[in-house]
Order: sequence, then C-alpha cells, then structure tokens
Amino acid sequence: MTELKIGQQVELEYGGTAKVLGVIGSGGQGTVYRVEFNGTQWALKWYDISKIKRPAEFKKNLKDNITDGAPSNKFLWPKYLTKEAEDGTFGYLMELKPASFDNFVDILNTYKLEVDPLTGRATKKNIGFTNLNAMITAVINIVNAFRQLHLKGKSYQDLNDGGFFINVDTGAVLVCDCDNIAPDGTNFGIGGKPGYMAPEIVRGVAKPDVQTDKYSLAVVLFKLLFRGDPMEGEKVVKDICLTESSELKHYGQNAVFVYDPNDASNRPVRGIHDNVIKFWRIYPDYIRDAFIRSFTVGTNEPNKRIIESEWQKLFIRLRSEIIKCTCGRTNFTSMFEHPDEKTFRCTKCGAEFGSLGFSDRPYRMPLYIGAKFYECEIDPDSEDFLSVAGSVVENKLKPGMIGIKNETNRIWRAKMPDGEFYDIKPGGGFPIWPELEISFGMIKASI
Ligand SMILES: [Zn+2]
Repeated sequence: MTELKIGQQVELEYGGTAKVLGVIGSGGQGTVYRVEFNGTQWALKWYDISKIKRPAEFKKNLKDNITDGAPSNKFLWPKYLTKEAEDGTFGYLMELKPASFDNFVDILNTYKLEVDPLTGRATKKNIGFTNLNAMITAVINIVNAFRQLHLKGKSYQDLNDGGFFINVDTGAVLVCDCDNIAPDGTNFGIGGKPGYMAPEIVRGVAKPDVQTDKYSLAVVLFKLLFRGDPMEGEKVVKDICLTESSELKHYGQNAVFVYDPNDASNRPVRGIHDNVIKFWRIYPDYIRDAFIRSFTVGTNEPNKRIIESEWQKLFIRLRSEIIKCTCGRTNFTSMFEHPDEKTFRCTKCGAEFGSLGFSDRPYRMPLYIGAKFYECEIDPDSEDFLSVAGSVVENKLKPGMIGIKNETNRIWRAKMPDGEFYDIKPGGGFPIWPELEISFGMIKASI
C-alpha cells in the first residue's frame, strides 16, 4: 500500500485514526498527505518502503526521534507513528507548515507558483526577503538549528535546499524532512542531493555525518547569500555534458571553489554567474574568508570546516553591521565610506552615521533610526539572538534627535550630558551624545 486514497482512515500506533484529506507533495521516499487527526490538520508522510534500505531499523530510529523530541521549535519534527499496513508500509504525523512560511527552493528561485484551486491555473508570485535584516536573521536561524541538532549528537544527513521553510518577513526558519536525522555515525542509505553533498560522499569514501552536514550547511548558506553554486564556474561550464562522472570530477575529486585565492581555474562566468559576481563584492572580508575556508581547506579536511557557533558569531556581527540610510539604500558598513574610525558615510547621498563600540568586540555598530541590538550582544551568557535588547529611536518631541531605548527588563546605567551616570529603567531611553557610555553589566558600550 504505497499510496493512500482520499478519505482513507490510517490507524496510529497508540490509537486513533487519521483521515486522508489530500496530497501535499511527493519525494524520493514517499508521499506527504494532509490528514485530520483529533480535530486538527496534520501532515502525514507515508513511505514507499521499497525505497528504504532497512525499513525496520529506519522505523526504530524514527520512533527514537519521536521519543527524544525536537531539538527546538525550529523543526517540523515527527510526532506520531502510524500502525504498519499489512505489507509493512508505515508513516508518521508531523505539524503542517504554517502558511506564512515559504519553501527555500522558491526563495532561491525568487518566485513561486500559486495554483487556483477552482480553475487549476498557476500564477507566478514573486518572493523575496522583506529586508536585509530578515535575510541575515534567517541565516542565523538556519545555523542555530543545525547547532542545536548537532549538540544532540545527531546529524541531518540530507541537507539541501528542500529542507527548509522560511518566513521572509521575520527570518524565522522551519527545518523539514527530519526523518533521516539519526545519531551521528548512523546512516540508512541516504546520500544527499548533488551539489550539496560533501566531496568525500561524492567520492564514495564517507557516509553522511555531522562533518558532512557542515559542508552541506556551507553550501546552503552560500546559495542563500550569493545566489549561486560555490563549485560551478568556468571549469564546470566548459565541461559541456554534466554526466555522472563529471559530477564526480567537479563536486568530488577536483572540486574547485569559484573564488579559490590559489586557483583561478573555476571563476564565475559573466552572463551566467552574475549574482555570485555581484554579491561576492558586497559582503565584508570576514564573511568571504569564512566561505573561502569552507570550500578550500574545508573541502578535503572535514575537521577544518567552520563550526556552527563560529558561523553564528559571524552572522550576528554581519546583522549588526547593516545600515539603513535615509536615502533608502540598505547595505553593510563595508559598503559605506569611513571618513574616520567611528563614522560611516553613504556613498550615494553622503549622509553620515555615528557608531557604538562594545567592550568585547573590535567592530562598531552603526547608529541609525531603527537600528537594533540583541540580548546576545549585551550579555556574554546569552545565546538569544532574536530578542531585541535596545533600539535606536527618534525623540518624539525633538525630531532629528536620536536616542537609545532599553527594551530589556533590566536596569542599565548610562552617562548623561551632565557627566553623571543614571539608571535607565526598562522601557526608558537616553540621548546619543558624543561622550555617551552605557553599562549593560559585564559588557559596556561607548560612542
Ligand atoms: Zn544614503
């Protein structure tokens, strides 16, 4: 019974039945249906067990994952197993993707097809991140999800562009297709998707694990930021037929990063890889260096790949270096001029922005209306990169005068223009002035 019928009742392992309402989609290992169970709609993944190498062990692993629970709320995790059908097929229930989340593949394509249920006609709808902050927040969320998973001692194994849903307004992320997740070192036959697999898997000398996840994660991040393939440049384009052996050559045995500083044989080609050429220029050196490391030494030495906590730090920095200029231009500080160490100047309109320096880091945060910093940036013990701790606001009574608002529930201390330090209560604010100093506790900041 590899296919289910609309209206069919599927029995769950611990009682109750789910009623099949319709098909959501199919993949390599089975089909996902929309079902109703206990008065709520769920997604049911139903396997074609002929596509699974060791079904009994696979099912046992799925059961273990259900018992362990999701590493965090960023996963559409298996919730309930079904009973086995007579021929041994089975499936599991998981939560449905909320409508506010889009498929990562559609985001990379910059559009999705929406089918009118009445006419069956498909229309193209553009998709893009609402702003740069949402996009970088999505990157941090992706990295953080894999950090949480790896900290549980499990690997995802099949990391690719089909594995995520993203809310383009907020950068919230949901990791889907969690059924191949297994304790590090265990593999049920899944290899991965071409282009995302680590070179040692393509060469057939390794099986997916935490180290190969790290390679695939770097590919996912590269695709999201640079909108292209890190290994597809001149060398690959010249090789006209992409057969299986050329796949092995360009992604396995002789994978060359398009911006390898020591090997220019595979540079992006103008007219084909314009996105990569354009975006590579925009990101600051520390981001480019991280990808160079991932796709040069990291290609053949898995233990030199960038770990998630390091990616997380780099992208939290990148998010704090976004400037939204009054002229409408939004970009990273690296794309602004620096007339002096503490000032950023827009190359388009000439507007200048001051900055805030924090006691624990070498870079400065630009100050513009709407700029925000987060809990993890003012508390060394915090990992919370989503809760806003402080924001730059305009004084309602004196337009043009900007200050910082305490958005936490703790008291800060700030030096006011009279030279004295005062308590800044939750919800309170203080002006930005040339000798401003703030104490958040362990971390301090100054102009
Ligand atoms: Zn400007």
